[in-house]
Amino acid sequence: MRTARVGLRVSAGQRRRCFGLLVSAGDVWACVLDVNRWRRQRGLRPIVGYQALCRELSAAGPGTFGELNTVGARSVLRRYRDAWFATAKRRKDGEETARYPRRKRGLMPVRYYHGTFTLDGRRLRLPTGRGCASLWVRLDRPVPYEAGQVRSVTLVAEGGRLFVDVTAEVPITAYPPEREPDPGRVAGVDPGLIHPFAVAGPDGEGLVVSGRAIRAEAHLHLKDTKHRRRTVSRRPPKPGQAGSRRWRKYRARQREVEARHRRRVRQAQHEAAKTVVDWAAARRVGTLVVGDPRGVLALKAGRRHHQRVQAWRVGYLIRCLTDKAEQAGIDLVLVDERGTSSTCPTCRQRVPKPKNRNFTCIRCGFSGHRDLVGGANIARRRPGGTITTNMFPVVITHRRAGRHLSGAGRSRRDPRRSPHHGTAPGVPWPAVARPTRSGESLAHHSEDQPTPPPQRGKR
Ligand SMILES: [Zn+2]
Repeated sequence: MRTARVGLRVSAGQRRRCFGLLVSAGDVWACVLDVNRWRRQRGLRPIVGYQALCRELSAAGPGTFGELNTVGARSVLRRYRDAWFATAKRRKDGEETARYPRRKRGLMPVRYYHGTFTLDGRRLRLPTGRGCASLWVRLDRPVPYEAGQVRSVTLVAEGGRLFVDVTAEVPITAYPPEREPDPGRVAGVDPGLIHPFAVAGPDGEGLVVSGRAIRAEAHLHLKDTKHRRRTVSRRPPKPGQAGSRRWRKYRARQREVEARHRRRVRQAQHEAAKTVVDWAAARRVGTLVVGDPRGVLALKAGRRHHQRVQAWRVGYLIRCLTDKAEQAGIDLVLVDERGTSSTCPTCRQRVPKPKNRNFTCIRCGFSGHRDLVGGANIARRRPGGTITTNMFPVVITHRRAGRHLSGAGRSRRDPRRSPHHGTAPGVPWPAVARPTRSGESLAHHSEDQPTPPPQRGKR
């Protein structure tokens, strides 16, 4: 099962109706919460079974929830049931902090299953209640699956925009004979902050995916958010100014910007995962051993580090990779990554964690890329596996994630970044203003020997 998010192109009227459906779904959710709160206060058992919830819904009668039809309303009930039982299971397993669904939401996603909607090229008909006009909307790109594969569509709103999540059942990739992945060929994957993925594969080959653009995007977004907050806090609302539209506008803008940032980072993370899976498939790697850092992340490491780790979204990153590996027919194993970046891959001794990107062993003199060292050590941790004899990568492929992002190159300068001053025309970019140790400035130096323009995208 794979899901693709596709934007909607809607007229003002269609937009109003779509949001009407989401609001009605939110009402269904609120009703279920209210019914169960009412029952709990009277010492009755909550209604959680799907059938019982559906009976309550039909007792409400048609037309209670605007244009939302039974199928859409039932998808909300199903969501409630799933959330409730997931919590019950977690509590049974001893997790005391797990909470049952209790928050009402203004907008709730609505899911329609196969057979209840019509998908015709880039046009989509969402079912509506009896007596309502049919609701056709346009998709902003073709659905990336074949018509027969689509199983459900989910209407969602994020940051004031409308999307549908199209879920399809996609068969696992078929390979020509002799080209299919071999489970005996193992690659170790080290997810990281600087490089989303560093892969140490068989035959001394390695792959490093750079995440510079993602970090630039996160940095700019944070700076922008801080700046906006500071500007707004200069004009706090006066008492008695309740009807002001300014704050509503500010919050809407904030949501919009947050959503855009999330979309950009996600897109780049998907690209990174796809790069890894394509690379592995081309080398017939059948097993990806992935280091899972989530156990170490809960440790207290200070505000600044915490911020970076939050922006990393490693859970999503690993999920992307798992998804794509599954479709490519590659096995994926998660292992504890503790200590893998501070162990020497040749003599297996613990050495102090390197500060920079270069790993050097003080015992045997081995030296190599730090993240690939992690990858090579992770490859060895395959549970129950024989010790793989991957040699340390000597042929390293470099790829970048997030080529669409503004941090990727100078041609994609971000409007959020303030223009740099002090660059005279004719001076090659980036201009170096810092004087060298001998006292002469680099700018002067560059007059004598013109520096060649920087090479773009040659890695
Ligand atoms: Zn060593």
